[in-house]
Amino acid sequence: MPNPIPPEMSAILRLIPSVDELLATARIRGLLTAQPRWAALEAIREVLAECRRGALAGDLTPEAARALVAPAALEVAVEAAAVRKARPSLRAVINASGVVLHTNLGRAPLAEAALAAIEAAARGYSTLEFDLTTGARGSRQVHVEDLLCALTGAEAAFAVNNNAAAVFLGVNTLANGREVLISRGELVEIGDSFRIPDVMTGAGGRLREVGTTNRTHLKDYEDAVGPETALILKVHRSNFQLMGFTAEVETADLAALGKRRGLPTMEDLGSGALLDLSLFGLPREPLAADAIRAGVDLVTFSGDKLLGGPQAGIVVGRRDLVTRLRRNPLARAVRIDKLCLAGLEATLRLLRDPERARQEIPALAMLGLPSAAVGARAEALAEALRTAVPDVSCAVEDGTSEVGGGALPLASIPTRVLALRGGEGPGLLEERLRLGEPPVLVRVKEDRVLVDLRTVSPSEDAPLREALATALRAGSARRVA
Ligand SMILES: *Cc1c(COP(=O)(O)O)cnc(C)c1O
Repeated sequence: MPNPIPPEMSAILRLIPSVDELLATARIRGLLTAQPRWAALEAIREVLAECRRGALAGDLTPEAARALVAPAALEVAVEAAAVRKARPSLRAVINASGVVLHTNLGRAPLAEAALAAIEAAARGYSTLEFDLTTGARGSRQVHVEDLLCALTGAEAAFAVNNNAAAVFLGVNTLANGREVLISRGELVEIGDSFRIPDVMTGAGGRLREVGTTNRTHLKDYEDAVGPETALILKVHRSNFQLMGFTAEVETADLAALGKRRGLPTMEDLGSGALLDLSLFGLPREPLAADAIRAGVDLVTFSGDKLLGGPQAGIVVGRRDLVTRLRRNPLARAVRIDKLCLAGLEATLRLLRDPERARQEIPALAMLGLPSAAVGARAEALAEALRTAVPDVSCAVEDGTSEVGGGALPLASIPTRVLALRGGEGPGLLEERLRLGEPPVLVRVKEDRVLVDLRTVSPSEDAPLREALATALRAGSARRVA
């Protein structure tokens, strides 16, 4: 026989309302007009189950037991749970971190022209793979190939799902079961689970490491070339830099070696700048056009890093090799989807006019914002907060923004940040902002929460101000209480 429930516990259990009783209350009836029924019902069941667990855990004082089953408290909990269940999981956030290409926050925000193209392609049917002049099936690549060739000087181009897929497809097509030469200084991990050596071996290539971690010479590659060699690969180190006693082989020298030995060369540029970043006062990143000019056969890069477009991987280079990649059956598995393709085409069209691109592609516009312009917005925000929350402690100070996305890891972009000192400590304020609506993501430095408006669109200034005021007020209310 199971232990009988002690009488004081069953007394509490009897006080817990039923689902129907809760559904009949005014508050939950109101909730049902605002939230879907499934969310409300799931929330009620969860809250009641939690309540029963609490009652059965025992050791409740009579007051705690009454608080546990108080209808008002249950209704509040149900409402919060229902709102949480009904709201989308993938939500917009305000990125006040100052990291422009924040991989976890979706990298590059898109230009209006890209958004419009995506909406048009998504809403109805399109010329995705249809040639209007012949009335026959076409290729989805025609929408971006000429643009990519014009922007990079390459003779052929091909867009896939992302840059990891581009590297994978390149190695699989050109070196499946054979050797790929790569410098030991370039066997990098880009993020999370993306490691260049793993992608190469996953694609069927046999890694043939040359040189050392800090120094690799042309002779190292030359000595390693043998009958099994199928490809020479160069990888941009992206998120770290080698300093001190270092040597690496110039792209042009590698390309020349490939030509001498009849071997294809491929360079993974990673962030794939199409505009010279020194225009923004940043260190000059190698452009895809530079690599093509240096004679590399294939160049790959991302669509959503310094290019400022949607997720995509881009391959440009020699026509015969691009054609081989396109014919690889795996190309279908890494095909670019129509929405990204529409956004990519629109972004590339903007890039044909560098001046327009700098103004209209948000990632580039953010990188180009002068510190003083960010500072002026921060001052206005500080002023508004002082009015809205009289006991706020805030000041505008110098700071640094980051490019992010594994690009230019050491480049720090001078900026001006709003520094907030919440009396309850920066950790609690950061959490309150993150859990608010809209969620606001900030940086914490020592005792301060830093808000960098470089990565906040001016259209978000008002919701950001509201979110900051709400979080700061909640903090002061707690302190007073
Ligand atoms: C970011 C990066 C990748 C991966 O690109 P995705 O578009 O995220 O797949 C590959 N190689 C290098 C060098 C990178 O910097």
